Amino acid sequence: MAQARRVFELHRPTHVAHLAAMVGGLFKNMKYKLDFLRENLLMNDCVLECCREFGVSRCVSCLSTCIFPDKTTYPIDETMIHNGPPHDSNFGYAYAKRLIDIQNRAYHEQYGCMFTSVIPTNIFGPHDNFNLQDSHVIPGLIHKCYIAKQKDEPLTVLGTGSPLRQFIYSKDLARLSLWVLREYHEIDPIILSVGEEDEVSIREVALMINKAMGMKQGIQFDGSKSDGQLKKTASNSKLRKYLPDFKFTPIQQAIDETVQWFCENYDTARK
Ligand code: GDP
Repeated sequence: MAQARRVFELHRPTHVAHLAAMVGGLFKNMKYKLDFLRENLLMNDCVLECCREFGVSRCVSCLSTCIFPDKTTYPIDETMIHNGPPHDSNFGYAYAKRLIDIQNRAYHEQYGCMFTSVIPTNIFGPHDNFNLQDSHVIPGLIHKCYIAKQKDEPLTVLGTGSPLRQFIYSKDLARLSLWVLREYHEIDPIILSVGEEDEVSIREVALMINKAMGMKQGIQFDGSKSDGQLKKTASNSKLRKYLPDFKFTPIQQAIDETVQWFCENYDTARK
């Protein structure tokens, strides 16, 4: 808390985008459930309490679609966050993030604070964490593909390749987050996602990465590894009501740009 307070004293922010978090892909989530719970609870509590103490007029925190109930109906929307337990693979992270929504409501009701949250789907883009074990699927597969290309081997995809995901390019998410900070005046969260029709399978995404990398070899699957949640299809109709004309970057173009960034910045990329 003292450290967080020092940052607020130094910068005296009027608006805060709270992105501090312990994050990771499926496999890191399965390994460190308690750490995900504790680290994120602590960070959220310090940041939100400092926002209150320093009179921040708007704070936007980042949740994730992986915090939604595991057993649910699709598409999932913003009203369903607390409707049942999250998937077992990431319950530490999920409960910590769900509590941000509860804290936002309580800060509003007790102190009138205008804190809200966004729920992005699976994010990727330049400057991501490309670690081979702990990253999310797109950066992880980009790094693996880079290595496989040098060895002239096929790209190995973990699981069956059949799970479905909605991916969001970090540059699109950055533009939407600024809009939320400036123009979205609800306490309740808003899902930031491409439409349901733009959901893709892990297999399709692996093929797009292969194409962007100019691979001669194809892909193969390691079915002994977990698939995680089969899908978590989210509705973006609330977003579309506010911003009917927002254009998302087409996924192949976004993957091409990310692969190019990774290859050009291999030495310094986070991995
Ligand atoms: P999630 O969307 O929260 O489940 O997290 P991820 O971004 O880690 O995506 C996990 C999905 O991608 C699962 O279906 C995995 O089986 C699949 N997957 C395939 N290969 C990889 C890989 O190299 N790394 C990761 N993180 N996931 C992979």
